[in-house]
Amino acid sequence: SKEIGRNSFQLYKASMNARSLERLSMLSRFQYALEHDEFELYFQPLQCLASGRISSVECLLRWNDPNLGMISPAQFIPLAEELGLIIKLDQWVINKACESMALWRRQGSDIRRIAINVSAQHLCQGDLAITVANSLSKHCLDGRFIELELTESSFISNLHEAKSELQKLKSLGVSIALDDFGTGYSALSYLTKLPIDTLKIDASFVAKIPDEYGNSEIVSAIIAMAKALNLQVVAEGVEKSEQRQFLQKLGCNIVQGYLFCKPLSADDWLRFYHAEKAT
Ligand code: C2E
Ligand code: CA
Ligand code: CA
Ligand code: CA
Repeated sequence: SKEIGRNSFQLYKASMNARSLERLSMLSRFQYALEHDEFELYFQPLQCLASGRISSVECLLRWNDPNLGMISPAQFIPLAEELGLIIKLDQWVINKACESMALWRRQGSDIRRIAINVSAQHLCQGDLAITVANSLSKHCLDGRFIELELTESSFISNLHEAKSELQKLKSLGVSIALDDFGTGYSALSYLTKLPIDTLKIDASFVAKIPDEYGNSEIVSAIIAMAKALNLQVVAEGVEKSEQRQFLQKLGCNIVQGYLFCKPLSADDWLRFYHAEKAT
């Protein structure tokens, strides 16, 4: 049994080494990728249910590694957070999103707003409001053209700090969305303590509409609460028309998901936008 113990320790050590090696190579690959434009923004429109029109567009990060191909943000975002690179990556995204929006507006499009995902770590650790202000002025863009999507975990470590950072953002005209609502550390008090404009109902609730017992009641309660607090409500991950119908009946303003449009490259997104506008 001593032998087995030693073998499994060797195995453990080997996998530890593989893991730190993997992290190390990831770290350098990541930095390389940032400098060599291997990151790209994809765009997914949100649809206003009342008018059927595009209400805004969310940018979603993609990593196109020449060797590994497309890597999902679900994989590399947690890694970037762990390696301390997330703020740099967020800054890249914020700048790119402002650049894109400024370009579209110069081209005469009337896209109302671009939504940008911001890592939970960023709000209190980095100068988020300064990053945003710099990107806006660099691209001569008004703050009302952007919305930041944050998750509740952003507020946990320091609610006071989070509030003052959000207020700075609000004074730039930027709007704030609470992403993945209903998962994680939902504390309803955030909704009244922080200057939040939009609530995004997590896709996991939408996926269970209308079948699963109790789920529809939760979604309906979230929508009613959001409306009572004068917040916009977005339902994420809407894939089926019956989900859309159900949400519309409950008074949900906006939907996002494959049913309306999947995330698209910049060119495909602009084609989609112009085609929608023509109808
Ligand atoms: P999220 O912000 O909740 O984004 C929604 C995710 O759901 C996206 O995955 C989107 O492609 C996917 N999605 C959209 N519609 C549907 C649908 O109808 N069905 C299904 N099954 N999925 C749908 P994606 O692009 O893989 O992004 C995953 C997560 O990575 C995002 O979740 C967000 O938390 C994070 N992320 C993405 N881009 C960025 C970024 O630029 N910065 C930061 N910090 N995080 C990002
Ligand atoms: Ca989001
Ligand atoms: Ca979400
Ligand atoms: Ca998410």
